[in-house]
Amino acid sequence: MCPANMFSTEKKEDSTKKQQPLQTINLDQGDPTMFVEYWKKAGEKSSIVINAWQNLSYFPNDNGGNICWFLEKEFSDEVTKLHELVGNAVTKDRYIVVGTGSTQLYQASLFALVNVNDHDYSSKPMDVVSAVPFYSSYPAVTDFLKSGLYKWGGDAYKFDHKNEPYIEVVCSPNNPDGHTMGPVVNGNGGKLIYDLAYYWPQYTPITKPADHDIMLFTVSKSTGHAGTRVGWAIVKDEKIARKMTKFIELSTIGVSKDSQYRAATIMRAVTESGQSISLQLAGNFFEFGKNIMVDRWERLRKVASENGAFSLPKYPKQYCNYFGEIKEAHPGFAWLKCNLENVEDCESLVKGNLKILVRGGKNFGMDNSKYVRVSLLDLEDKFQILLERLSTVSSSSTKVK
Ligand code: PMP
Repeated sequence: MCPANMFSTEKKEDSTKKQQPLQTINLDQGDPTMFVEYWKKAGEKSSIVINAWQNLSYFPNDNGGNICWFLEKEFSDEVTKLHELVGNAVTKDRYIVVGTGSTQLYQASLFALVNVNDHDYSSKPMDVVSAVPFYSSYPAVTDFLKSGLYKWGGDAYKFDHKNEPYIEVVCSPNNPDGHTMGPVVNGNGGKLIYDLAYYWPQYTPITKPADHDIMLFTVSKSTGHAGTRVGWAIVKDEKIARKMTKFIELSTIGVSKDSQYRAATIMRAVTESGQSISLQLAGNFFEFGKNIMVDRWERLRKVASENGAFSLPKYPKQYCNYFGEIKEAHPGFAWLKCNLENVEDCESLVKGNLKILVRGGKNFGMDNSKYVRVSLLDLEDKFQILLERLSTVSSSSTKVK
């Protein structure tokens, strides 16, 4: 906890609020609810009715000959069309594997990359690494089953590959800090998983179609439908696609057909909104998302520069092929650094004094507590409260570095 005189809670609060204890708000998870206003306006084209007699079978209604046997063709067609429109990933001559969120596809990728058929079970598990600050779920999801095939190996910057096989997860743009990333280990035996959950134009400039061996995407962050629990992998190698499919078959016998149809309908609405803006009541989805993100970042940067207590990452300006303009990234998270000299633990400051639940830097592999990740993907009223509370931190009552 921090000295009480560091805050002037009277600054923006009205007199009735002044007496009330602060209500805790949760900006810990990246729950992408900010798109709700778009989807309320999007109308029938983005909705689907599924009757009780439909989708009864384990098997797809139309698989279209995909290697992933439980993949609905309608879903994979919409995935392809959306990537073609946005220009963020190569899909031609690639395999698509659908998963229950990209979280399941991450596990399926690990399973597939450790060559299961040839794996010598007496040998040690393969290391899985990612550059600090890495997405906080990677260590837990990698290790929770204590697999004999792979184990979490920590920070990719510090990893010694010893010319042995390993897996590096590249998250780009990176959760939590929003930077564009590439592999950092570069060993001969390295296998790469690209987590491209945030490689969409509302968050970052689309500079080229990504073209990697395994790329993971999700409707959670692209359209904001985290509750639909659908993600997809774009995979170059047929054997890997087959193994990933096997993993999902063994863990959940496929992926909800209802969800695949709902996701396909929503993605079609996004693609069509991008093609014929004037016909859509809600407008172009990515334009809507970008406008929110730009507005939030401007307001957040203003508060940070006014009080000097926090700093935010800077992003380069790049040409975005999708919007046809030069822009910088406006990530879904703020990677906030506390500059206050007498505050060692930024998480306690924000959680304890400001009553905002955020995720501390240590969860992302950092060895100091100066950083926290704050979700910018939530509803406007919560974002406004975040700004109000951050602006109450008075740098004048303490020394700012
Ligand atoms: N990768 C990253 C970088 C994420 O931020 C998230 C969600 N927070 C996921 C993967 C998981 O997405 P899903 O909801 O599709 O499982």
